[in-house]
Amino acid sequence: MTRNVGDIDRVGVVGAGTMGSGIAQVAATSGHDVVMRDIETEYVENGFGTIADSLGRLVDREKLTEAEAEAAEARIEGTTELADLADCDIIVEAALEDIDVKRDIFADLDDIADPDAVLATNTSTLSITTIAAATDRPGSVVGLHFMNPVPVMQGVEVVRGEKTRSDVLEFAHAFAEDLGKETWESDDKPGFVTNRILMPWINEGIRAYDEGVASKEDIDSGMTLGTNVPMGPLQLADHIGLDICLHATETLHEELGDRYTPAYLLKRKVEAGDLGKKTGQGFYEYD
Ligand code: NAD
Repeated sequence: MTRNVGDIDRVGVVGAGTMGSGIAQVAATSGHDVVMRDIETEYVENGFGTIADSLGRLVDREKLTEAEAEAAEARIEGTTELADLADCDIIVEAALEDIDVKRDIFADLDDIADPDAVLATNTSTLSITTIAAATDRPGSVVGLHFMNPVPVMQGVEVVRGEKTRSDVLEFAHAFAEDLGKETWESDDKPGFVTNRILMPWINEGIRAYDEGVASKEDIDSGMTLGTNVPMGPLQLADHIGLDICLHATETLHEELGDRYTPAYLLKRKVEAGDLGKKTGQGFYEYD
């Protein structure tokens, strides 16, 4: 199989949460028909709500016309049936960061997807090879790690599993570029390039706060002003979601050892349900 991004008719997205809705949106604004699937109608509707808000902001900022935003929204079909993704040329999975959930989804996709479809996962840290092994077509499985928020962030990390075919890798790069993104490539090692380096940075910021090195504001200012990054570690943790950070750090800890031990305060805040922006309370409070 050597496919061409120009031949894509339909893009499938599994999961209509933070990332899935963003991926569906950028695929639709790039002119593709999209099928976005979640397990409950309510979650699909939430995904459409997120997309409408995001498109509205782009119209306000004059990045899109109202007609373009409406046309993009109309290109997205919502569903709770995985079988509705059967005709898709590429399917991007953005469901929960849980290896069993992802392996089940990929086993089901293997049953229903077009034999030539590329099956991509947006996993932050899990092994592409382990996910691909749940299918009988591991060569067609690739990591396509979009960044949050998808419509804003420019980069996409393409991850090569043990068995990913080179034409599938090439297609993954070309697809992300077609959505207006820039790519880089990582081997299938825990956390890939980005989260292997980012998660311990966030984790150490949380430890520094817990150990009284400085106030949360000073830790964030120290890193933004001192190292020229747009957000400090505590702001960024709230933005990503503390549960996602904890999951990612636990995976890195399991795979790479003690240097990735999750900060005590990170675990305590997740247990308390203070997950960051999405719950209105993380290290900071949000409206
Ligand atoms: P989220 O919790 O916002 O959304 C996940 C969605 O998947 C939910 O709507 C849930 O109902 C749905 N879902 C669960 N099981 C499903 C199934 N079997 N079929 C279809 N949908 C299912 O999570 P998110 O933040 O969008 O993260 C999704 C993936 O993207 C994760 O693997 C995460 O690690 C990765 N990721 C997240 C970020 C981030 O900053 N949030 C960044 C990069 C990658």
